[in-house]
Amino acid sequence: MSGKSTRKGDEFVFVPLGGVGEIGMNLYLYGFGQRGAYEWLVVDMGVTFGTEYEPGIDVILPDIRFLEEERHNIAGLLLTHAHEDHFGAVPDLWPLLGNAPVYATPFTAEMLKSKLGEMGIEPSFPLEVIPMGSRRTIGPFDVELISMSHSIPEPSAVAIRTPLGSILHTGDWKLDETPLTSAATDENRLREIGREGLGALICDSTNAIRDGISPSEADVAKTLSRLIGDAPQCVAVTTFASNVARLGSVAMAARAAGRELVVVGRAMYRVIEAAQATGYLDPALSFYEETAFDKLPRDKVVALCTGSQGEARAAMARIASGEHPNVGLGEGDWVIFSSRTIPGNEKAVARVQNALADQRVEVITDQDALVHVSGHPRRGELEQLYDWVRPHTAVPMHGEGRHLEAHAELAEALGVKRVVRARNGTMVRLFPEPAEIIDDVPVGRLYRDGNILTSADDGQVRERRKLSFAGFVAVSLVLTTKGELVADPEIALAGLPASDLQGIPFSEIARDAAIGTVESIPRPRRKDPALVSEAVRRSVRAAIHQVWGKKPVCSVLVTVL
Ligand SMILES: [Zn+2]
Ligand SMILES: [Zn+2]
Repeated sequence: MSGKSTRKGDEFVFVPLGGVGEIGMNLYLYGFGQRGAYEWLVVDMGVTFGTEYEPGIDVILPDIRFLEEERHNIAGLLLTHAHEDHFGAVPDLWPLLGNAPVYATPFTAEMLKSKLGEMGIEPSFPLEVIPMGSRRTIGPFDVELISMSHSIPEPSAVAIRTPLGSILHTGDWKLDETPLTSAATDENRLREIGREGLGALICDSTNAIRDGISPSEADVAKTLSRLIGDAPQCVAVTTFASNVARLGSVAMAARAAGRELVVVGRAMYRVIEAAQATGYLDPALSFYEETAFDKLPRDKVVALCTGSQGEARAAMARIASGEHPNVGLGEGDWVIFSSRTIPGNEKAVARVQNALADQRVEVITDQDALVHVSGHPRRGELEQLYDWVRPHTAVPMHGEGRHLEAHAELAEALGVKRVVRARNGTMVRLFPEPAEIIDDVPVGRLYRDGNILTSADDGQVRERRKLSFAGFVAVSLVLTTKGELVADPEIALAGLPASDLQGIPFSEIARDAAIGTVESIPRPRRKDPALVSEAVRRSVRAAIHQVWGKKPVCSVLVTVL
């Protein structure tokens, strides 16, 4: 135990800063102490990825304004597992919060080191590797890791004990007796935690709208083995690189079918290295690099590829478009999408699958065969966990609105006395009970825009969306000190049609509007460049709108000679 005694007024609070009400970007805080003077344990610090709605943005991170203000009260960061939505923001954000330690199990720590190395970041914080299932004190908390099943090695739930009471934070989990990587969900330990008396269960909601129990990773391995055995020619499998069990299953199936494994895509190599270093893949596992692909007989190859989400720069998209330097597929070859399409990626995945079909490649997805299972609990698994741990309070997390609500209603139906519907930024007092929402803290999103971290509120991405919709017009005016135009305005256009329906070029429409406006302004007032610029901007946009029906972004530069 932490050995700390409580003072009157101490509280144990939970504050999600990301992951509750959205997919991805998980960031959870647990605080203990007097109101307004809590000491914090941070659990996970993940990212999400930009979509077409965020042009030019690859990575989206949680806004850590609140944590920055609390930076002197942070005891440490505990990572539940090495998925991007749980640890991807550590290199960018954790160094901004001082040098409190990061705690991670061996595989997660290996993945974090590899990520830091790839980003060229020297860690400015201590990284403490802690064993699976270990128990230790972090700040005011007695913290115990509990093995769960998921779709990556070493997923942990976290039991957090204080003198006021205990909670269980599940991380990402499912029930799987044969997860084919690290230990299965530790049912005995979970039951014991239930017997000790559990205040609150803060639990994964991702699959709370799906009935039943998810199939096992071992069932997927069987299907893959059968398909790879049946494939007439080359077979490629694309999956999440971090799904080490799946990589292992594909490798085994290849060996059983007398085929060589070729690994295509950098992310795969990184995970294989981390998994071999920590014992989750056989260090003797032999595979070829992608340059060997063309030298091997096509019916003796399994290509394991990145890009299951249709990512434009990953291996599968480049293979599908025929642009991969080393790997090409064609008629009679098979591609197995051993993956789920993450919401938001549907179009990108469809593009890749259609391009493969155009090349007469056979595409097999989880709609056709059991080639993927989710790593998250369906309703039957949630019921099982609630039965084992019997919490007083349920706080659904990790999901969008409808997942959270389905989970909340399920918990109520299972007889949980209190269900707290939290969202990012709500401060929930867990103890003293009854649990309730007591405050709000600022939350939001950050964009990694090129090499710069910016707030999503800064506006440049909104502006990019506008530009993509209606283009851009620049007008340059040169005036004498008396307010005469020295020459016709210069116009530059981007993203507009060449001309209107009558064939008049848009540059001409813009120039006429600019000249007309300048001439309509009384001479003495033309000495105010801001006034001229704004009047011209409005009139140019209006003139273009009149013929085109759309208003471009417009900038007017005024020079007075
Ligand atoms: Zn996960
Ligand atoms: Zn997750």
